[in-house]
Amino acid sequence: MGTLHLVYKKFLGGLQTRRNFSVTKSLIMSDEEAKAQTAVPTEDTIFGKILRKEIPCNFIYEDDKCVAFNDVNPQAPVHFLVIPRKPIPQLSKAEDEDKDLLGHMLLAGKKVAAEVGLENGFRVVINDGKEGCQSVYHLHLHFLGKRQLKWPPG
Ligand code: AMP
Repeated sequence: MGTLHLVYKKFLGGLQTRRNFSVTKSLIMSDEEAKAQTAVPTEDTIFGKILRKEIPCNFIYEDDKCVAFNDVNPQAPVHFLVIPRKPIPQLSKAEDEDKDLLGHMLLAGKKVAAEVGLENGFRVVINDGKEGCQSVYHLHLHFLGKRQLKWPPG
């Protein structure tokens, strides 16, 4: 076998490996992605139970319109959620009348972000629906920080 042939085989092998890798990658789903595939909007959610204090949860912020607490499965050194007391299932179901509430939640989250030391920046995420990877159908803002976040998101 000539040197050129060997180089060509190696090149093809590399392509093959890379192709298999991307196929394998697309087959691997995080728990959250898997949950989002089967999650269905329901009247009551785990966040509703948290708001009614049926499930213990340490609020890091609360007022008459929203509360914030740390995510149980953090995706960054700081990862907290801001949820409205009003049970809006998802952003795409919010109404014009929710305009002030949505702004209020962003500002509340911004204040918590400053308090927990996210002075170098942070990301706010709202997952909406199945393709948006939403697993809990009570609107929530994810605030993530204290590590370099990547773009584009997965
Ligand atoms: P999403 O996939 O956008 O619907 O996000 C739901 C988030 O809620 C996930 O990041 C979960 O880790 C988080 N979560 C679920 N149950 C709890 C809980 N009891 N306390 C705190 N976070 C929770």
